[in-house]
Amino acid sequence: MSDIIYTKVDEAPELASASFLPIIQKFAATAGVSVGTKDISLAGRILASFPEHLSAAQRQSDDLAELGRLVKTADANVIKLPNISASVPQLVAAVKELQSQGFALPDYPEAPQTDADKLVRAKYDGIKGSAVNPVLREGNSDRRAAKAVKSFAQNNPHRMGDWAADSKTHVSAMSGGDFFSNETSATLAKDSTAKIVLTTGAGETILKEDIAYTAGTVVDATFMSAAALQAFLTDEIEKTKADGTLFSLHMKATMMKVSDPIIFGHAVKAFLAPVFEKHGDAMRDLGVNPNSGLGDLLARVNDNAAIMKDIEACMASRPPLYMVDSDKGITNLHVSSDVIIDASMPALIRAGGKGWGPDGRESDANCVIPDNSYAPVYDETIKFFKENGKLNPATAGTVQNVGLMAQKAEEYGSHPTTFEIAEAGTVKMILDDGTVLHSHTVEAGDIWRSASARKAPIEDWVNLAIDRQKAEGCRAIFWLDAARAHDAELVAYVKPILEAKGVADKFEIMAPREATRASLETITKGDNTIAITGNVLRDYLTDLFPILELATSAKMLSIVKLMNGGGLFETGAGGSAPKHVQQLLKENHLRWDSLGEFCALGESLIFLADIKGNEKARVLGQAVDAATQAILDNGRSPSRKVGEPDNRDSHYWFARYWAEALAAQTDNAKLAAHFAPIAEALSGNEDKILSELADVQGPNVDLGGYYRTDAAKTAAVMRPSETLNAIIG
Ligand code: NAP
Repeated sequence: MSDIIYTKVDEAPELASASFLPIIQKFAATAGVSVGTKDISLAGRILASFPEHLSAAQRQSDDLAELGRLVKTADANVIKLPNISASVPQLVAAVKELQSQGFALPDYPEAPQTDADKLVRAKYDGIKGSAVNPVLREGNSDRRAAKAVKSFAQNNPHRMGDWAADSKTHVSAMSGGDFFSNETSATLAKDSTAKIVLTTGAGETILKEDIAYTAGTVVDATFMSAAALQAFLTDEIEKTKADGTLFSLHMKATMMKVSDPIIFGHAVKAFLAPVFEKHGDAMRDLGVNPNSGLGDLLARVNDNAAIMKDIEACMASRPPLYMVDSDKGITNLHVSSDVIIDASMPALIRAGGKGWGPDGRESDANCVIPDNSYAPVYDETIKFFKENGKLNPATAGTVQNVGLMAQKAEEYGSHPTTFEIAEAGTVKMILDDGTVLHSHTVEAGDIWRSASARKAPIEDWVNLAIDRQKAEGCRAIFWLDAARAHDAELVAYVKPILEAKGVADKFEIMAPREATRASLETITKGDNTIAITGNVLRDYLTDLFPILELATSAKMLSIVKLMNGGGLFETGAGGSAPKHVQQLLKENHLRWDSLGEFCALGESLIFLADIKGNEKARVLGQAVDAATQAILDNGRSPSRKVGEPDNRDSHYWFARYWAEALAAQTDNAKLAAHFAPIAEALSGNEDKILSELADVQGPNVDLGGYYRTDAAKTAAVMRPSETLNAIIG
């Protein structure tokens, strides 16, 4: 196994790797550090799942499973780039492409009937969605802006929308009947096996059994009342209309892939309530499923003039919808995964509380976030900016995050234990010794879910928070609401650990709303704070604060301190930027910024030095940090426009600054001597290299595939400078 694993992924970051990885490998080798790859791309994961359909030469190892094992060892040092979390259309497209490349894969069975089809479907379903991160995240999360990135943002503040004190933008959440208010939680005294049983007038149905929990696990159960949700949504549609704002729904259907598409479906039904009332049967016959969104619904009823006419009339009577793409008429309710709360709410807040309306203009919005668990974070942020005006990125301090994430902690691991209830009754979670851990009276259509967080990850998370607070010396707040069932169980873990370690006075514990205000006040003063949160707030806050402070979350350091001693370095919080690939294919310009990779590389090398005592790796890592700083200071990040420097140029500059920093350092004379001529060659050939890179831009290019590109074609496109290639070797 290589010393460092650099993941092979998809789309823009993978294209960037074709240019950047050869540089990393060459430089790292001088410290005796090997950098290998493991394929976690969508295409790679598909191929690894169907060996029986492939020839011996076509078969691919299951690298994700291998990485899953590696991250449980002390040797792990993985740089994880963003990969595709495939929706069904993406999965189907990838299968089609692979078939066209000669891989005899089975089609994705839309409606599997036979056992064989069901097996194929189960394999594909295992590849879908956020399948990768939970396997790798065997540790808790430490996310923050690297010093170089934060000071660059302060020196070059981005534009922020103005907040008017009388802005009508606000957050609406349910005041009862939601997951927040129905939650019950308990910490298990001993190892237990649980079952979830629904009892109705007709008898008992086991929803799930043999759920194994270890002692100390915090197990929650809760439900969202469908009736309360419908009443809330209906009411909010009316209120939005009266307010003259945009109706906007914000959820996370990609991550909460069982519950949130159902909630989204309720919103579609509420918005088109008169149409569903009148044409419900006909629409069902046409295959309409509100959970699939307005886009799918319109496609299915398109040929039925009567339904279309009533939809039009209904939409005209409704408040305007917040738009995903007003040019193309794609609304908030078209596809459940288009509006993702952790990205959509910060973008709206950064814009001064404005969203795009159907008329293509910006408007105030009613931000509907049905469940009230975390809605107060956005509500309080909006109130704060209305009172105090927008944040000033030039002077603002930073909010770092320490997030409980390991072993699928909390709601984000709840898909297998989330159910839409078929019939009114009682849902009980019963332990093997007969204890009824949780019991809820439910109605048909309610969404019941149970989530858990294990003891070892929780303790590790508190200890990580203690380490981080010690390293930073700043204010540190546990975002826990003592009045919420689940959070109260966590507080019972947190307080004794802080006390035993004698650091209780260094930490505060506050409910999310109060913690939001306290954090905003702190950074407004220019000070820093650490938000120590559960898994969902980890996700939300590491977009919210970076987007306000740095304009993007893609440039964050994202470190997973693995519980068994290894390190996982995620590059940025952004995704795989499909739009960037479109641009490259069209005009051979890649605007992907590898800053996330630069930051992760520096951390990975220094971690290697700490763990393995490889001092040369430390020198390399420190030089990476110097190079990253130089990229920012000298404005060498990629431009968005064809004909201007792109991702490849930024890698040239990175290699050059890295070599220059290594040549200039005095900690290791051998490395300095080795890199001096390389630095000289890179600077001496600047004009030649840059013109070789610039010359290729403009025409379209062929990569031999999208999900599985041709390696030689990709290398030719991404490494077009012979002079640079010769120096790198
Ligand atoms: P995205 O890839 O983050 O792209 C949204 C936009 O963010 C891009 O179009 C780009 O803006 C900007 N961006 C993100 N990273 C950037 C970078 N390094 N340099 C420059 N600009 C950057 O979001 P998405 O389109 O919603 O998601 C694409 C895929 O990524 C999906 O399959 C999603 O599931 C997956 N994803 C993976 C991870 C992960 O593995 N950790 C995280 C999030 C999403 P401009 O177009 O304006 O340049």
